[in-house]
Amino acid sequence: MNLEPVIGLEVHVELNTLSKMFCGCPADYFGKSPNTQTCPVCLGLPGALPVPNKKAIEMTILLGTALGCKINRTSRFDRKNYFYPDLPKGYQISQYDEPVAVNGRLKFGFQNFPTLRSGSRLHVGTKFKVEEEKTVRIRRVHLEEDTGKLIHSEVNGKSVTLVDFNRSGVPLVEIVTEADIQSSQEAKAFLKEIQKIIRYLRISEADMEKGIMRLEPSISLRQLPIDNSQLTKEGLPNYRVEIKNINSFRFAQRAIDYEIDRQKELLSAGKKIPQETRGWSESKGVTFYQRSKEEAHAYRYFPEPDIPPLFFSEEFINGIVSVLPELPRPRSERFVKEYGIRVSEALILTEDRGEAELFEELVRLGKDKNLFPQRIANLLVNKKVGKSDRRPSLLVEEMIKLNVPETEMSEETLSGICREVMALNQEVVGQLMSGKEKALDFLIGQVFRRLKGQGRADPDLVGKKILEIITNG
Ligand code: ZN
Ligand code: MN
Repeated sequence: MNLEPVIGLEVHVELNTLSKMFCGCPADYFGKSPNTQTCPVCLGLPGALPVPNKKAIEMTILLGTALGCKINRTSRFDRKNYFYPDLPKGYQISQYDEPVAVNGRLKFGFQNFPTLRSGSRLHVGTKFKVEEEKTVRIRRVHLEEDTGKLIHSEVNGKSVTLVDFNRSGVPLVEIVTEADIQSSQEAKAFLKEIQKIIRYLRISEADMEKGIMRLEPSISLRQLPIDNSQLTKEGLPNYRVEIKNINSFRFAQRAIDYEIDRQKELLSAGKKIPQETRGWSESKGVTFYQRSKEEAHAYRYFPEPDIPPLFFSEEFINGIVSVLPELPRPRSERFVKEYGIRVSEALILTEDRGEAELFEELVRLGKDKNLFPQRIANLLVNKKVGKSDRRPSLLVEEMIKLNVPETEMSEETLSGICREVMALNQEVVGQLMSGKEKALDFLIGQVFRRLKGQGRADPDLVGKKILEIITNG
């Protein structure tokens, strides 16, 4: 059975506003004693009235714009009704049919490693590319409030569940993609790009480990060739399995891979897969059944009666959009074109907005001092300078001192070194051939250890050389 993964993502990100979404309590709950950052509004006490946080709305408009969305001129909050102990009101204030932003797209690059089965051969240049480009459509970006936090603990020898409402009401932005993603690698690359953009916009730390950014992938499999009578009118399978609350890139990748395999097995055995919500157990490395998935109507969405609809004027939107910085991906493309640096270096330098700005400042300062962008990029990427002080004027001085040209390796010498390294690491080469992408990084690292003092080379080129040797012998 030929099956292709169809993956959509929901990403929740807490915004770094000073106060919460609908009250004046501090939004920074990290490390605070439980239930000390609360008031009648975020505790959901009867009669308390919510007032939307303007800053959070501005941040959502900024993010929506960065993701190429249309900003709705009218937007509204709705009540999403469900019962859970971390939600004292019995409903979450969210957005339903008039979200802040809709219909965007995000372009990103990703490492596309061939999925190799034993006995198959690796084809350089056909299946393997250092970086492939992918565009994922963004369905919507909306604003809502976070819930409280349940803490499972033990008191006087009894297992109890405690609840901390410090997080209740923290502004939460939700990004929903169309089901355009086809593998766990793509999902991971998409998430990294989203995280980078959010950090560029300085609207959140977007840290997954702290739970500031959380992920829910929805996964189903579509049979090939495509048979429309078996699909929904959007061309999607008629079920989807959602995996809840994943809090690291690695878990995301593992959970998606596990779920693809699980579904493949069931479908290949002629079984139907129910629409359901599953959890991810990192210790067991499996997804597990949590509940059958609700449809939107189960939440009985209705307009939040205590908050009037929002109307955004053109001036208001333009004012926000005017502070949109150049985003990481276009910036890396410009660095390559404008400064002639390597793609791999441009990608590293634009990981962080501060680092990218520092690089350009150094290029400006080095201009009349025979210090070229290529050299600056190289020294920054390899962290050869600025270990204690990162002031641009001092960094330039340090760089000039180090400015002795290195020789570029000849192809032949490089090939020779690659072969030596591969001969010494045959087991790792075997792992690479079975599709383990880390193996290539390891081999590149080994080649670089040998290069030390002999000259320099481009890591992408080294990777290509290794793959070439595997294919052509
Ligand atoms: Zn409050
Ligand atoms: Mn949500």
